[in-house]
Amino acid sequence: MSKLENKRLKGKVAVVTGASSGIGQGIAIAMGKAGANVVINYHSDEEGAKETLRQIEKAGSKGVILQADVAKPQDAQLLIDTALENFSKLDILVNNAGIQQDQDFLEMSLEEWQKVMDTNLTGHFLCAQAAAKEFVKRKVKPDERTSVGNIVFISSVHDIIPWAGRANYTSAKAGLQMLMKTLAQELGKYKIRVNAISPGAIKTSINQEVWQTKEGREKMLKQIPYGRIGEPEDIAKVATWLVTDEADYITGTTIYVDGGMTLYPS
Ligand code: NAD
Repeated sequence: MSKLENKRLKGKVAVVTGASSGIGQGIAIAMGKAGANVVINYHSDEEGAKETLRQIEKAGSKGVILQADVAKPQDAQLLIDTALENFSKLDILVNNAGIQQDQDFLEMSLEEWQKVMDTNLTGHFLCAQAAAKEFVKRKVKPDERTSVGNIVFISSVHDIIPWAGRANYTSAKAGLQMLMKTLAQELGKYKIRVNAISPGAIKTSINQEVWQTKEGREKMLKQIPYGRIGEPEDIAKVATWLVTDEADYITGTTIYVDGGMTLYPS
């Protein structure tokens, strides 16, 4: 059994948004393998969510699937309520859902700007607020040593590296940075930890048209000193560790999991 599967999240309850594919699916499964019960959110890919559930149950944990649009306030609340109804509590929120709608700036419509902002920034705000309102109900002593709740934002190396043709995406991800830091500052007194993970190039559906071609893979690899394109598991391992008590003094931080990509701004 790998270290990841040693049940270090036993008894914990996690909500993972966008958990039917890619990084979110990887994180939901990894947390399930580590012993957490998981609310598996999906937007449109129900089959993907069922596969996530199968993997979690195979590992001996429980999961529940919920279709929800993170950009809608009532859906964000429903995600948290689903955790409470099914598992009686909430310990971890992983804000992962995200989209890209690429367009040159001079051509970008307000709709293309707004759609990405709604999902990648406002959706994260809504889910974080709903989760934090639940976490603060747990009264903590000032000298309490471990956190009562964890919020993890899945951001991107493009929260610091500009990316031509994606002003909507980079602006939303840069916004996430300040949202994360401000929440960590504001919620610290409640012993809520708030952090971000910024992936580099990870093989998922969001960028498959690039890594599925030889030319695209070579272009990606030129930007990665470590010499390999990442997999969802690379992010999942870090996310799982970050919400354990081993990382209990970490808040307001971004971990770049990118094979060194941020060393070569493009
Ligand atoms: P993905 O397309 O496989 O996953 C995105 C998920 O978000 C999908 O399951 C999708 O259904 C869901 N989603 C989209 N809109 C939603 C909404 N309104 N409500 C709920 N769910 C919604 O791609 P991925 O690469 O796994 O992306 C996950 C996160 O990682 C995103 O935030 C993305 O920006 C970020 N990221 C990815 C990479 C990469 O190279 N793959 C790099 C940096 C950051």
